Amino acid sequence: TKFSDLKLDPKVLKAVSEAGYENPTPIQAGAIPPALEGRDVLGIAQTGTGKTASFTLPMITLLGRGRARARMPRSLVLCPTRELAAQVAENFDTYAKHTRLTKALLIGGVSFGEQDKLIDRGVDVLIATPGRLLDHFERGKLLLTGVQIMVVDEADRMLDMGFIPDIERIFQLTPFTRQTLFFSATMAPEIERITDTFLHSPERIEV
Ligand code: AMP
Repeated sequence: TKFSDLKLDPKVLKAVSEAGYENPTPIQAGAIPPALEGRDVLGIAQTGTGKTASFTLPMITLLGRGRARARMPRSLVLCPTRELAAQVAENFDTYAKHTRLTKALLIGGVSFGEQDKLIDRGVDVLIATPGRLLDHFERGKLLLTGVQIMVVDEADRMLDMGFIPDIERIFQLTPFTRQTLFFSATMAPEIERITDTFLHSPERIEV
């Protein structure tokens, strides 16, 4: 498979080629086509396999030209740690650089002010740790009823860190009709329970 065989937005393909990538990695070749068809994806992949692009590239393509509305992000990426969320945000900037899509990074340890401003203005993509996302929600600053695409990254680490109840709550705050792209290095029973409950006939890709 080549990147140009995947039905990605030409603006995304341009950014990928500028990043110097020649061919998709196995998780990318497996996850991108079903994601672009609107299907749920369950990716079993370690970090270092290219999994960040496997959800970011289709997400950017699917969000396309739609417009963000105040306090209603169209897409949500949940990460277990601040560092990982910051890395995903950096990747998003790289791959979305030829689009007009906007993002906000919602992580703890920094003041709410700047994050509030971005949310108020309206962003296409929220990249967040679960605790900080729920803090914003509980402060009444944020609605998740406009979320069309939800990504859960490194679910196994979410489990280790005790975030599974937060993840369930966040799933329940998003529309039933959302598309979910869910990634984990391993499938513990607690994670299987979440994917059984919230994913709709996912395409399972294991690398
Ligand atoms: P990740 O598993 O998402 O943390 O990605 C691991 C590293 O691989 C990152 O530094 C990416 O920039 C890089 N990468 C992702 N996809 C590709 C690709 N198709 N070709 C070459 N490098 C890639």
